[in-house]
Amino acid sequence: MFAIVQCKAQSVLNHTYSDDEIYKIIDTMLNNKRPNKFLLNELKHYITWRQTAIPGDAHYNYWDMKNVNPYSGRNTLHKDSSLHIEFKEFYADFIPPVIGPITSNFGCRDRKQHKGVDIDLTTGDKVYCAFVGMVRISQWHKGYGNVVIVRHYNGLETTYAHLSKLKVKAGDVVRSGQILGLGGNTGHSEGSHLHFETRFKGIPINPNYFISFRNSQLQATNFTIKATKIGFTAFPTNSQIHTIHSGDNLSALALRYGTTVQHIKELNGFNKRFTLRVGQQIRIS
Ligand SMILES: [Zn+2]
Repeated sequence: MFAIVQCKAQSVLNHTYSDDEIYKIIDTMLNNKRPNKFLLNELKHYITWRQTAIPGDAHYNYWDMKNVNPYSGRNTLHKDSSLHIEFKEFYADFIPPVIGPITSNFGCRDRKQHKGVDIDLTTGDKVYCAFVGMVRISQWHKGYGNVVIVRHYNGLETTYAHLSKLKVKAGDVVRSGQILGLGGNTGHSEGSHLHFETRFKGIPINPNYFISFRNSQLQATNFTIKATKIGFTAFPTNSQIHTIHSGDNLSALALRYGTTVQHIKELNGFNKRFTLRVGQQIRIS
């Protein structure tokens, strides 16, 4: 036990401890006549870190536990910006919020922008945190219903909406896989489902860019976020991108790039009723 804890405890900046691990550290110290200085120090650092570290603070410099989108109106990302977002070390651990079919994808829906993906569930199903982070919002909202928003260490925020029950509070440090609430049908929702969003500085980005929902894993660990004519995209750094011109279709593009229509669809999270628009950037590889 002692060896495991000590080997994992390299530096608090590279590792977050689960509550169980902390109990083990305390147990180990209580079992020893002379307190282990290393573990004592780790515990002290951990407590300080847990109390003070606001995830992604370098990108934001502020922390709002009341407003769902405090970024609107702020000039958060310039249209010509291109920046990188990384999932590394402990914050690359991804757990799907729920496992189920996507019933409505990100994009245009009823002439309005659908800013997330809808994943089917049954009311009462557990909804899990996708990545380690800190709960920024856990409250009622007229559109989202009961909603949890978690800010992660790379600056990404994930939103979990229409919950029947909230199981965390704002300010809580949460691990990937921790239960945030129970799925439901609250707020502006017709039928039980999870509305799941990924945002950066308040700007919604298609979650399919980051996550392969079919395989329950990350698409990559390094992404470049880019402004395009029709919104922001996030592509794995070094991936091959094609900008749609008038007359383009997937069969022709697949032939041209030596790939398959199915592969392009999967990479871009296209569902059955997708449309290509001029100016849209899609992943080829
Ligand atoms: Zn939705």
